[in-house]
Amino acid sequence: MIQITMPLGFLGTVYREIRQALVDMGEMFGLLNQPAEITDKAEAPKLAVAGGAIRFEDVKFGYDPSRPILKGVSFEVPAGKTLALVGPSGSGKSTIGRLLFRFYDVVEGAVKIDGQDIRDITQHSLHQAIGVVPQDTVLFNDTVLYNIAYGRADATREEIEAAAKAAKIHDFIISLPEGYETKVGERGLKLSGGEKQRVGIARTILKNPPILLLDEATSALDTQTERDIQDSLREMGQGRTVISIAHRLSTIADADEILVLDAGEVVERGRHEELLAKGGRYAAMWARQASDMQTGA
Ligand code: ADP
Ligand code: MG
Repeated sequence: MIQITMPLGFLGTVYREIRQALVDMGEMFGLLNQPAEITDKAEAPKLAVAGGAIRFEDVKFGYDPSRPILKGVSFEVPAGKTLALVGPSGSGKSTIGRLLFRFYDVVEGAVKIDGQDIRDITQHSLHQAIGVVPQDTVLFNDTVLYNIAYGRADATREEIEAAAKAAKIHDFIISLPEGYETKVGERGLKLSGGEKQRVGIARTILKNPPILLLDEATSALDTQTERDIQDSLREMGQGRTVISIAHRLSTIADADEILVLDAGEVVERGRHEELLAKGGRYAAMWARQASDMQTGA
């Protein structure tokens, strides 16, 4: 057997970017391999980003044809606005994220970004436009610098530091014995959950995508760290189109629209106050989380 090994840098930026996107999505959604049947059309153009408006048009989808998962989901996130997805486990929230990323094609309906059906544009340009902040950022066994910069090989040191400052991890990094050259990951310095998330945020800020897909951090972080991270995520969301998969309702109260999913259907939609006033599913979820918080559950 012939084995060829070469440094990652050899494989070029495009490969790294695709790999980053896949790794991030893999982290986020527990997937590492994109189904092989998703390919670019011949001569597909790049996505032409206007502002990053997202539209799901009566999307039907199932991983298996005999078992529908999304049963006609429609929504629109205007450029720069935030949509939050809530609902019980298994209701289809992550599936919406996977479809936006075109890990799978819809069975019926369409997913569009700035009016372009994502099946008609290159996957590379699609992945370039979407930043993912997973719950658990995986670090490579390399320097902090590499871990922030990877995915954008052309970033300058200044840009990397600016991203780290925006993610509020710069001061921590320069306090390390070797600063940005400190090795992290399994074989290096172990970072806390919050620090890892900040590295992930810095990565995404550096990538500067018009669209963000957020999977809210949960139990891994203590309450104060989680609040701080939420503030950073909110700041990062300014001027971008955001889809936020939320577990803690307190963090999405200011979303422009909230969709409540159940078994692949949108069962309620509106703003936080509207949904509370309605006294339906969302209001019940809210009351339950509030009482859990009081009892410390
Ligand atoms: P949520 O994120 O709301 O918890 P998901 O979108 O992950 O829900 O899952 C929706 C449904 O799709 C669940 O019933 C889940 O078991 C199913 N599902 C998710 N991923 C796959 C897959 N790769 N193959 C088959 N079924 C899947
Ligand atoms: Mg999920």
